Parts: sequence; structure tokens; C-alpha cells
Amino acid sequence: MTHEALSIIAAEGAAQPLRFDAATVRRLSTSGPRYTSYPTADRFSADFSYGNYLEAVAGLKMRGGARGPLSLYVHVPFCDTVCYYCGCNKIVTRDRSKAATYLSYLKQEIGMQGTLFSGMSQLGQLHFGGGTPTYLSDRQMEELMAHLRKHFEFAPDEEGEYSIEIDPRTVSRERVHSLRAQGFNRVSLGVQDFDPDVQKAVNRIQPEAETLAVMQAARDAGFRSISIDLIYGLPKQTLDTMRQTMAKVIAASPDRIALYNYAHLPHLFKPQRRILDADLPPADAKLDMLALCIRELTAAGYVYIGMDHFAKPDDDLAVAQRQGRLHRNFQGYSTHAEADLVAVGVSAISSVGNTYSQNEKTLEAYYEKLDQGVLPVARGIKLNTDDLLRRIVIQKLMCSFELSIASIEMAYPLRFKDYFAAELAQLRALEQDGLVTIDDEWLSVTLKGRLLVRNICMVFDRYLGLPRAQEEGTAGTGAQPLRYSKTI
Ligand code: SF4
Repeated sequence: MTHEALSIIAAEGAAQPLRFDAATVRRLSTSGPRYTSYPTADRFSADFSYGNYLEAVAGLKMRGGARGPLSLYVHVPFCDTVCYYCGCNKIVTRDRSKAATYLSYLKQEIGMQGTLFSGMSQLGQLHFGGGTPTYLSDRQMEELMAHLRKHFEFAPDEEGEYSIEIDPRTVSRERVHSLRAQGFNRVSLGVQDFDPDVQKAVNRIQPEAETLAVMQAARDAGFRSISIDLIYGLPKQTLDTMRQTMAKVIAASPDRIALYNYAHLPHLFKPQRRILDADLPPADAKLDMLALCIRELTAAGYVYIGMDHFAKPDDDLAVAQRQGRLHRNFQGYSTHAEADLVAVGVSAISSVGNTYSQNEKTLEAYYEKLDQGVLPVARGIKLNTDDLLRRIVIQKLMCSFELSIASIEMAYPLRFKDYFAAELAQLRALEQDGLVTIDDEWLSVTLKGRLLVRNICMVFDRYLGLPRAQEEGTAGTGAQPLRYSKTI
């Protein structure tokens, strides 16, 4: 089977079918942002300070509160060992005392944020990411969750989404039950690939039985949704190994699957220098793998959500998409539209009112600011009207694959055709490629265009091509690296 021969249409009846056109994907794949925010994090400026963040929170209070229940992100940066493909902001150490120090500062930051948001501290969504959140001991996690509950008002379990990224290598069955008892109701498991040779090549040895046992424990403990992360394009991966991994994944039946394209950027991410170029699959083989995964997942009944995400049709994410409630934030797709996001921990990014702000990226700088009694905001951006407008356009395209032109004209005093004349002219080329359709009322992404939705959104990104304020890689905390990953 070659990639030229592949053209796949997902199962009829799926809420969001998808057409894989290898020739178009190969021709149009380029580097571009993942749009977990707009403007992207590489546009944040050091001119944005703690004071600007306070103003943003005060602005919410003046408007009568947050946009709804808050979303809270907690960053735990530590890992036991390094995975060679990793582009996250993490600290690899076996010295557990570092986590204890970090936790004391993290609690201080949570307390300060809790005070700032007092009177509007209802929480509908919580996400623990890293690094490896389960690097923390059971007892440390217990204390941290109790501290969070002291400062934020959690929605009841059946309403709130409380998720945690789990490294299956770090937890026992008992620990999984403990996490559920501590309040988490969703898990996402890092798997990447089940093949032992691939695992060896990326320094992440994770026996299949161990992963399956953690999934079973999560089901037994009553977690509402189990998600697994996979990566295609890793060293030693072939179409055959990918086929076998996919069969095992489908048999394990997770509710959600994230399938990421490995971005090999060794000049930005040091661990990636341990990966041999010769072990990486060629670009054409990667496309074959992607096609295979899409075909197998859709045949197994998974719905394509967007970007790199698939979900079972009855999963909340798929339901939210059908109902037009899907949203995109630094953790990817979310069912809680337009929530203000408070992010705590080193390098974490908040989205409050019309601002984005990012914490200090090194532990030293993060601790120093907290020692001074101020929140550790390092940089950010206040969105202007044009940013807000483009953010809505990009959000709609990423989450719903369509944009109602009338709804934009109702919300903003402009004629879409005039304001976006240059963008519409650019979109005509993508229309000829069959990726979008444009009429007076709708801009729609076609089945063929869905995999290339980032290319379509890039047309509306005013900042692409402008010089950046700061150029550095910070993947894993939502920030965009100097050179973006491939759109496919
Ligand atoms: S992939 Fe995850 S577990 Fe591995 S080094 Fe990166 S953050 Fe740590």
C-alpha cells in the first residue's frame, strides 16, 4: 500500500467524517501554529506584567464576574526520566525534595489566586499537566487537592471535569483509585507506541500489560473518560508496527485518542538530539501511518474531533462538538466554552478576560517572584479588538469546521467581505484545492480540508510573517516554538 493509493472517507454517520487526500496533504503541509491560543504564545511580550494581570481580574469583577465557572490548570514540571522525543517544559530529576519545595511555592500561588478570585472562584474544570503530575506522591497530591478546595469552589463531580495526565509507569492500581477518590474523574495516559523497539529508541520503556492494567484500574475506579496519547513519526516506527499498535489501542477501547505528529526539532529540544536521524521514518512513510491510523480509528467508530483528536461518538467531546459547544485552549479541545483559565505553576499560561499571561519559565525566577509576594507573571498580551475577532474566527474553524459570517457581523460592526478581503482572496486558492467552501453566509471546511484546518486558520493569523518579540521553544505549556510543527 502506498500513500498515493490512499483516499479515505470515514464511516457514514460519524458526526465529523474526514477525507484523507494524501497528495493534497503532502503538497500543503507546512509549519504552523496549533492555535491553542490566538495570538500564539510566541507573541506574548515582557511588557505585560503582574499589574496587567491584576487589571484583567479587576475587569472581570467590574463586569460582574467570570464568564462562567473557572478553568484551572496546574503544572507539575518534574519527570523521573527523559523521553527523547519530549518537547515539554519539564525538569528531569530523581531528587524528590525538589518537588516538596515546588509544592510549597505552588500552594502560595494558589492561595494568592484564590484571594484574587474570591467571590468568583467557582470551578468547572481542572487539569493537571506536566511534566508528570503523578511524580507527586499520593500524600502530596492529597494535600494539594485539599489546598485547591480551600481556595476554589469545585462543581459537583457529575458536573465538573477534573482531569490528570498519568504516566502509567508511575502509578499502581491503588494509586489510580486514590486519584479518583481525590476528585479526578478523567485521565489521560501517555502511551505513544506499544512497540518495544520504538519504546527503546525513545527511552520510554512501558510494557503493554502495565498500560492496560492502569486503564482497567481507571475503569474500575469509575473515571468517566480515559484518553490515550499516541505519536506517529517516532524512530523505528514502520507501517507494520503502527498497525499492530493501532490494533492494540482499539482493543483497549479508550474514550478519546490523541494522535500527535512527532516534530523533530533537535535545535530547540535537547533530548531529541539522542534520536538518530537514520531511525526516523521518511515523510512518505509518516503519511502512510497517518492514513492507516485514520482509517482504523474511523472504522472502529471513533469520531474525528479536529487537529489530532478522536473520540467515541458518546464521549462528551464528540457530543459538545455536535452541539457547537466545543472550545480550544492550552490543553487542547474542551467542552467548557469561553471559561476564564487560571494557570498555576512554572511556565503555566492563563487566559483571563481579554488577556493571556505566562508564568516564569525557570524555577529560580518563579520562586523569586513569589518570595517577593507577587504572582510570577513573566509575559503576556492584552488582546485588541482585531485579535478578539480573529480569535473567534480561528476558534470556530478549529472546533466546528465552519463559520457563520452573519454571526460575526452581528457581534462586530463590520462587513466580513470588506474587513477580510485579503484573507478571502487567499482562501480562494484553498477553495480551488477543495479544502473550503465560501458563500455569502458560511465559510466551511470540507471533509478534505479538515486535516489541514491549521493551514486555513493561518490565513486569518495577522502575526504570521511579522517578527516575533521573543523566540524560544516552550512546547507542552501551550507556547509555540520558534519553528512551528508541521500542520500534518
Ligand atoms: S514526554 Fe512526558 S514523561 Fe516524558 S520527559 Fe516529557 S514530560 Fe516527562
